Amino acid sequence: MQSSPSLATKTLDAHEQLNQLYGIQEIKGYTDPMHELIGTILSHRTTHANEMTAYVTMRKRFPNWEQVRDAPLPDLIDAIQTANYPEIKAPYIQNLLTHLIRETGAANIDFLGDLSTEEAMNWLTALPGIGLKTATILLLFKFKKPVLPIDTHVHRVTQRLGLIGPKVSAEKAHSILLAYLPEDALQLFNFHKHFYWHGQRVCTWYYPKCNECVLQDMCDYFQTGRTMVLSSTPIRKKKSTNP
Ligand code: SF4
Repeated sequence: MQSSPSLATKTLDAHEQLNQLYGIQEIKGYTDPMHELIGTILSHRTTHANEMTAYVTMRKRFPNWEQVRDAPLPDLIDAIQTANYPEIKAPYIQNLLTHLIRETGAANIDFLGDLSTEEAMNWLTALPGIGLKTATILLLFKFKKPVLPIDTHVHRVTQRLGLIGPKVSAEKAHSILLAYLPEDALQLFNFHKHFYWHGQRVCTWYYPKCNECVLQDMCDYFQTGRTMVLSSTPIRKKKSTNP
């Protein structure tokens, strides 16, 4: 079992290798913080194109946020139907807007930029329907705060490499990996983006392309013959061959 200092070194090594593979990216988010906030809800298990269609359709039908808040629920569900689970996301969005407008007097979260990272995180995660992943995406992409979004790809790849333990949740991974990485928004943005891309393109769910992977030599999952059981990757059920 590796100690934390060596895991920190391994994390920085993997980060550097993916920096070289994918290149350093500038931090990019939507111009409007409210778009980033609502977009992260719409984006859950949805392609970027479908998320955008849902957002644009919703804003065309309900041009201001009070109208989105007050829209009949079936109409809002219909407007965002290109996003998966619109019947779950629509009430989330309305609850969030109700809370936000009641607490601050407006559908505007620009003030988060003036708060400390901890204050902004606490404020956001107290909103209905906003979890750690949504809050970290918003704070890093839009406000350049030093936090690390852990989505399913980042979780899976960091678990397979052995940077976090096989049973560590995405929530716990956030604080563990942050302790290994520089407290720098650009570095954290690149770590997130690169591990996300690597999970999408190389270290895929059921058939990781280990023979094409630059991280093979340091990967616990590969080195143990892909036998590790990981909480981020459910074991695929084999199809029954019985008639
Ligand atoms: S060696 Fe395989 S399992 Fe390990 S990170 Fe690369 S693709 Fe994923």
